[in-house]
Amino acid sequence: MDYGFTAGLEEELDKVAGGELEWKTVLDTWYKQFTAKLATADENMRGNQPVEIPEITCPACERPMAVRTASTGVFMSCTGYALSKKEGKCTKTINLVSGDEAEAVGDDDEEHEVNALRDKRRCPKCGTAMDSWLIDEERKLHICGNNPDCTGNEVEKGQFKIKGYDGPVIECDKCGSDMQLRSGRFGKYFGCTAEDCKNTRKLLRSGQAAPPKMDPVPMPELQCQKADDTYVLRDGAAGLFLAAKSYPRVRETRNPQVREIKPHKDELPEKYHFLADAPELDPDGNPMVIRFSRKTSDHYVAGDKDGKPSGHAAYFENGKWELKGATKGAAKAKKK
Ligand SMILES: [Zn+2]
Ligand SMILES: [Zn+2]
Ligand SMILES: [Zn+2]
Repeated sequence: MDYGFTAGLEEELDKVAGGELEWKTVLDTWYKQFTAKLATADENMRGNQPVEIPEITCPACERPMAVRTASTGVFMSCTGYALSKKEGKCTKTINLVSGDEAEAVGDDDEEHEVNALRDKRRCPKCGTAMDSWLIDEERKLHICGNNPDCTGNEVEKGQFKIKGYDGPVIECDKCGSDMQLRSGRFGKYFGCTAEDCKNTRKLLRSGQAAPPKMDPVPMPELQCQKADDTYVLRDGAAGLFLAAKSYPRVRETRNPQVREIKPHKDELPEKYHFLADAPELDPDGNPMVIRFSRKTSDHYVAGDKDGKPSGHAAYFENGKWELKGATKGAAKAKKK
């Protein structure tokens, strides 16, 4: 974008506001200039060419991989992508983690920071500073800052890891393969390395892997209210909830009642067994519903009178359920 162009327009808009210029004239002139620039851009702008990295071969078909830039970031894709199905088209991609997130294993932290600054590699072809990307724990890719105009690149071999986790390699709770620390749009997480396992676990602020996610518990006896579907019990960032079996296609969810989860106690993970032992009804005979407090990150139960808080709630404290009048916080949580 041309900042002079934008600033000029701003100045003119100020004049319109001040009554010095007529807005139609301003817009008309702006539009004419803009269309002309757009036409030149169409003719002269280069396409986003992939840069082949012969040293990195495709884990699926062993053809060389190439670096691509997309609106979502930089990634590698197999050069077999351009082929037809007959020629053996390959759609394999590898996600890259920014080199700023990576550190060499065994490096002293402070020393490493200094080295990182000094070590920003220069392109072997044109001398421009290179950006670095982590491919996996053993390989780091340096790409010329002028990419794709300059195809200069280097592959560095070593032992790398993503900053922020010092613990051991963790085993996938679904399939037993190793999980690898990755960095994504929503932060750092562990992803299973097995080809057909999509399991992930978040990296918590504490530096620990988030506990394994609960497998959804089918509740075929519970009919959805709107959709022609039944519920499953799921565990999310905001605690346990009932969701349509075909969620997220069918977006029907609600909080479960204590009496609804009771028959499924054995299918729940150990840490949720206490919820099946909560009081089923409040002192007025309203059903108790399982709720989650974001503030304390704990579940509690609250009476529900025709979709509104009954004013009673119970909390699990010191190994037993304590009935209390609903606190302000609990009443608020109910509204969401
Ligand atoms: Zn391939
Ligand atoms: Zn270069
Ligand atoms: Zn797995």
